[in-house]
Amino acid sequence: MPKSDPVLTQSRRRGAGDATETLGEALAQLTKEGELYEKLPDGKVRCYACGHRCLILDGYDGICRVRFNRGGTLFVPWNYFGALQCDPIEKKPFFHALPGTLAMSFGMLGCDLHCGYCQNWVTSQALRDPMSTAPPIPMNAERFVTLAVENGADTVTSTYNEPLITSEWGVEVFKEARRRGLHTSYVSNGNGTEEVLDYIRPWVDFYKVDLKGFDDKDYRQLGGKLDNVLKTIEMLCAKGFWLEIVTLFVPGFNDGEDEMRQIARFLAGVSRDIPWHCTAFHPDYKMADRDYTRARTLVRACEIGKEEGLRFVYAGNLPGKAGDWENTRCPNCGELLIGRSGFMVHSYRLTDDGKCPKCGTVIPGRWDAAKTRAAVERFGAFDRMPRAVRPY
Ligand code: SF4
Repeated sequence: MPKSDPVLTQSRRRGAGDATETLGEALAQLTKEGELYEKLPDGKVRCYACGHRCLILDGYDGICRVRFNRGGTLFVPWNYFGALQCDPIEKKPFFHALPGTLAMSFGMLGCDLHCGYCQNWVTSQALRDPMSTAPPIPMNAERFVTLAVENGADTVTSTYNEPLITSEWGVEVFKEARRRGLHTSYVSNGNGTEEVLDYIRPWVDFYKVDLKGFDDKDYRQLGGKLDNVLKTIEMLCAKGFWLEIVTLFVPGFNDGEDEMRQIARFLAGVSRDIPWHCTAFHPDYKMADRDYTRARTLVRACEIGKEEGLRFVYAGNLPGKAGDWENTRCPNCGELLIGRSGFMVHSYRLTDDGKCPKCGTVIPGRWDAAKTRAAVERFGAFDRMPRAVRPY
């Protein structure tokens, strides 16, 4: 094996006797053979579910710890969920996909990155951080989608941890969701490969990428590579996913104006129609010593996004504190099209065919005026708060 191979030196042998072993053994029962990999000589496998492209020896895990090689076969998560919640789709955040509706959200366990400010670390860092001990909820896809329908969701979403690393299971769930007339989405860190995007493309409607900054050195601290995320964003756009981007601005980490401008310039170069969500950080996990992001930081990021040519830029996580930046306005005439505060949609004025009612400009997105109006009417302010779902 080549000495410089980062994967072989970072992956771990199963059953190493550490504090996460019990959870690891439980998860190992909830697996099946994966599809996003190739078998190699001497019992090795190459996984391409995410941009790490782990080369995994027999008896070892991939970097994500939830895909593992046993006897020359790659086993992947199956038939369980790590967290369930019915959320407003604005919480994902998607602002140009069925606004006002609900997204039945599920997380799994594990992640291919290890961000120190992760807000879902209890599930995402399973098998890596001994404090992350959320148990799996065994459940099949049919039961989950039934819960989504019973809770009034129009979309099911793989979120809370990195969905790419459980793409075989995600597709299984989404096939059932489509059969029941629901939309589907990924909330992802964007550390993708062409193979995994082609694999999920027939089954995923909306895709959100968390672009964490524009500094490769910082990205490597989190366990990723900037260039791979940028390439994934370009591929998502070219392959026709409905794409929105979020950047969480962490004070002192990625909130400099130069970096904001680099992000916005890159996105505008891919497509000026990509909505960019500039969201506020709250102290969490290993970055509990930082300050909260201020509203003026988000407003400045939004201004820079517009200056660089993006047509739709939003401020998130500080409802009511960032002026007009929560609303959708027509990029041609400035007409207010969708009024929001936090996760609430309080006005929707697009025409049924997704145009500005005043000047007729086509507004990019995945719209369904009937669904939005029905949802806004049906779910009041209280009901549109995220709510935990009882699995049984
Ligand atoms: S999903 Fe990514 S981190 Fe996990 S085994 Fe595959 S390539 Fe490695």
